[in-house]
Parts: sequence; C-alpha cells; structure tokens
Amino acid sequence: MRLATITNWAYGATLVLTLVSGTTMLLAASAQEAERSAVAQRFALDQATEHLEERVSGLTDRARQYLNTGDPTYAVLYKRELAELSDAEKHIRALGDAGARGDELAILRDAMTWADALHDEQAEALAAHARGEERRARQILFGAEYERELDRARTSVERFQDQLDERTEIEIAEAIRISRLWRSMSEAMLAITGFLFLCVLYFVFKRRVLRPVVRLSDVVNRLAAQDFGVEPPAYDEIDEIGDMAQAIRIFRENGIERQRLTAEQDADRAVRDLLARMTQRMQGCDTLLNLRDVVQRFVPEIAPGLAGRLYLADPASNAMVEACNWLEPAHSRPEFSPLSCWALRRGMPHRPSGEAIDVPCEHVDHADGAIPDTLCLPLMAQRKTLGLLYFEFRAADPHARVSEVYLQILAENISLALANLQLRETLEDMAMSDALTGLPNRRQLDAVLRTRLIDAERMGTALSCLMIDIDHFKRINDSHGHEAGDTVLREVGAVLRQATRENTQVFRYGGEEFLVMLPGASAEQAQLRAEDLRARIAGLQIAHHGERLAPVSVSVGIATAPDHCTYATLVQTADAALYRAKAQGRDQVVQASARASRSAA
Ligand code: GH3
Ligand code: MG
Ligand code: MG
Repeated sequence: MRLATITNWAYGATLVLTLVSGTTMLLAASAQEAERSAVAQRFALDQATEHLEERVSGLTDRARQYLNTGDPTYAVLYKRELAELSDAEKHIRALGDAGARGDELAILRDAMTWADALHDEQAEALAAHARGEERRARQILFGAEYERELDRARTSVERFQDQLDERTEIEIAEAIRISRLWRSMSEAMLAITGFLFLCVLYFVFKRRVLRPVVRLSDVVNRLAAQDFGVEPPAYDEIDEIGDMAQAIRIFRENGIERQRLTAEQDADRAVRDLLARMTQRMQGCDTLLNLRDVVQRFVPEIAPGLAGRLYLADPASNAMVEACNWLEPAHSRPEFSPLSCWALRRGMPHRPSGEAIDVPCEHVDHADGAIPDTLCLPLMAQRKTLGLLYFEFRAADPHARVSEVYLQILAENISLALANLQLRETLEDMAMSDALTGLPNRRQLDAVLRTRLIDAERMGTALSCLMIDIDHFKRINDSHGHEAGDTVLREVGAVLRQATRENTQVFRYGGEEFLVMLPGASAEQAQLRAEDLRARIAGLQIAHHGERLAPVSVSVGIATAPDHCTYATLVQTADAALYRAKAQGRDQVVQASARASRSAA
C-alpha cells in the first residue's frame, strides 16, 4: 500500500474519531443541561409548594391570632396571606406538571384541596367571630378536626416534596452517570484520536524522514569512500529530503565524472610513458630488425586491442612490404603497391570507415561488402615515404580506446626512427665507400680484412691479395687536368668492380691504388686474375670532354697467405711486390716471394 494511501486513511480515521468524540462531548453536555433544567423546574415547583405550605400555616396563624386578640391588624394580615395563597396556587397551576409525575401531582392536588377546606373553615370561623359567636369560631379554628385537616394539608405537601426530591435525586444520579459515561467516551475517543495522530506522526516521520535520512547517510558514507557504484535513492518529494537526495545524486554524478577523468588521465599518462619509452628504445636501434622488435613489443601496449602492421617501403620492388604485425590483422595484404593506399597517396592519415565517409584503400580487403574500420598512417620524413603504420579497429572492443592523436604521434616517432636509421646507414655507407668510384674505401678494407684474415687463418684457407697501382698517373693529371684523372679512376674502378666475382672484394686503397681480395685463391689463380685485370684496364678507351686519353697501364703486386707470407703481413707483402713491379718497369704483375715476405715483415 502506498504511503499516501496509508496517511490519507489515517487522517480520515483521525477526523472521524475527532467528530465522534466531539459528538459525545456535546451529548454529555446536553445530558447535563437537560438534567440541570429538570432540577431547576422541580426546584421552582418545590419552592411554590413550600410557599403554599407556609401560606396554609400563615393563614391558620393569622386567623387564630385575630380570634385570640381581636386585633384588626391580623384580619388585614390574614387577607394579605389569603391573597398570597391564591397567588401561590395560581403559580403552581401555571408551572404545569414541571416534571412531576401524575401520582405526585395527585398528592399536590390533595394538599391544595385540604388548603381550600382549611380556608373554608377559617372563613366560617371568622364569619362566626363577626357574628359574635366566639365559641363557635374557636371551636372551628382550634378544634381537633381543624388540626387534623391542617396536618393533612402539611403532610400532603411534605409527601409531595419528599417524593419529588427522592425521584429528582435518583434522576440526577442517573443523569450524572450518563453524562459521565458520555464524557468518558469522549475522553477515550480523544485519547484514541491523539494516539492515532501520534502513530501517524511516527509513521510519517519514520517513512518520510528517518528511513530516508539513514539511507542517504549510508550512501554519503559510501560516496565518501569513493564507492561510486552505490545507487542513491530517488526521493522526488519537494522537501528537504528530496533536495538532499537530488544533491547527493549530483555529487555522485560529479564523482563518477571525476573518476572517469582521473582514469582517462592515468591511461593518458601511461600511454605517454609508453610512447616516451618506445621512442627512447627506437633511438637506440642499430638495425631495422631492432626497430621491428621495438614496434612489435610496444605498439600493442600503446594501442591495446588494435591489430596492425608495420610496412616498410622497398625501393627495389617499389612496394610496401610487411616488416611485422601484431594481434593478427585480417584485412590488409602483407605487400602492396604504394598507389593502392590513400594515406600514402595523400601523405595523410586515412580512415575510410567510422565517423567520416571515405573511399577504402585497395590494399584493404572488404570482399563481404562492409568496409572494415581501418586506419592507415603514412610514415614519412622530409617528404619521402618510408613506410606505413596500419591499424584495424574491431567493433565493440572496450580496450580499443586509444586516441587517434596518440596513434599519429606513434607514427611520427616511428617515421623519425626509420629516417634516423636510414640516415645512419647512408652515413655509414658514405664513411665506408669512396665517393668517386663507389668502391669500398680503406676504412672498410680494414674492417673486412680483420675478419677475413682471422677467418682464413682459423680455417687454414689461402687468401690472396692484389695491390694495383696506375702507372704514371700524375702525368694524366698534369697534362689533362684533375678531372680527367678522376675519370680515369672511375673507369678503372668500374672495370675492377665488374671483374670481381662472388666472394671477391675490390677496395680503393688510396690515390690511384686499388686492392683486390681473393679469399680461397691460390697464388696461381691470383696471378691469372691479376693478368686478366691488367689486360682489361689496358684495353680501356677513355675519353674526357670529347678528348681521347692515352691507354692506361697498371702495375700489380700479388701476395698469397700462407704461401708467401703470414696472414697478418698479406697487404704489406702485396705492396712490396707492387713496388718491385714498378721498379721492374711498370705495366706488369709481380708475385711476392717468400723472401720478399720476410723482408716485408
Ligand atoms: P708511378 O707510376 O710511380 O705510380 O707514378 P705515379 O705518377 O702514378 O705516382 P705518384 O705517386 O707520383 O703520383 C700519384 C698522383 O695521383 C699524385 C696525386 O696528385 C694523384 N692523385 C691521387 N689521388 C687522386 C684523385 O683522387 N684524383 C686525381 N685526379 N688525382 C689523384
Ligand atoms: Mg701510387
Ligand atoms: Mg701510380
């Protein structure tokens, strides 16, 4: 049952009880009033009859005094009394029954009849006295008969009064009892009404005040302990409790919002920390493999729930080739032409599904008609496409909440790391190779030689070295200019590079000197290769600015470890052989001898 229904019923019952108790009070009052008026009526009758009795005695006394004294004053007084008696009788008749019963009234009528009889006898006695019949008069007034009649009259009046008094007393007692009963009833009603009112008050207080306050205080305590899962009760009444409930609801909503913001900020900070750590690690990467590992480890953490791929631009095949992937991407192909990606075409992030309507990329499969929610982020540095970062958003994934801004920062960081790696590779290439001929330089020779010599010595395999020097090169510079000398160096370098096979390496040793390493080649094989090279160079036809230059000859020194020398002295031994070739007239190949190696050592 609803609270309002209960309180309405209680209010109704209280009202009815109040009306009933009011009515009983009125009844008690009216009973009292009726009793009071009855008593007043009877009191009037009582007084009238008492007056009648006094007049009866008074008339007797006046008449007797007149007879005894003969004083006319008593005759006058007698007449006055008589007049009063008749007034009293008239008064009694005028009062009617005045609440007296018929038998009581009969007694009163008897008394009045006796009074009339007495009056008649007094009149007769006074008439006898007037006639001088004193004896007769006295006989009538003082006779036993007169006394008896007088006594009867008095007794009748007294009896009437006694009966009336007795009955009045009984009736008054009854009226008082009834009046008390009504009063008790009305008091009981009032008590019940008061009790009911208190019950309603308590009920309303408990339901409308106490219980809501306890409930609200419980909610406030839980909210204070950051437990925002608690549901505040809805009290829609327009009162203080309703206001309090509304304020608590707003407080809770604010708390939830604050908690959400804090969680967002924490997640944000975590993502930023991860991004910073990833950037640091990428800066420490020496190779693409390192970089790939870092990307594969960090990206699924920064963008949880998002599958994806890292593509790298392969200039050789002009394609985007997968370097790594995470969480099994389902839509994009592992290799595709850069032209099939809108992000790479436009040099901007591209998300064809989601909020904006756009064209899907060709490298993204959408055979079933629905365009998958994907994001392509071009990896670019100085307007050069280095690769592509690709993500797949999966529907209803609660974890896939990372902001696109972070994904763009991620792409920028990867781009920067890729650009750094490429720059480093270029710088290393530049440091290790000769700009003029494109051949590896002396620095790279040192690095290669270190491992080659160690490997060959450990395996006990032969390792031959050809030291090649252009003859009279200075003359070319002197007669045709430095540029012509450069051209000759380039052409000779090209011949040497073309002639080298697998497992052979050619270096520009310095100036117009070249070094050819022949791992596994014996002294004889080395001799053949050297002769071949010398012949090829001799056959070169070099032109510079349309001017044909004179044929170029070279001198070659050969050393083979361990035949001619130790592995460690291979280069010096070859150099010594070259020196001998020069000394012997140039344009020739000279092998080192064991003796030469010793002298070199
Ligand atoms: P030899 O037959 O004894 O080897 O005589 P040569 O003139 O070739 O040798 P020399 O050592 O006297 O001269 C080498 C010259 O090569 C000196 C230098 O000016 C020139 N040279 C060294 N490097 C370059 C270069 O990169 N370009 C050009 N154009 N000349 C260079
Ligand atoms: Mg030289
Ligand atoms: Mg030379």
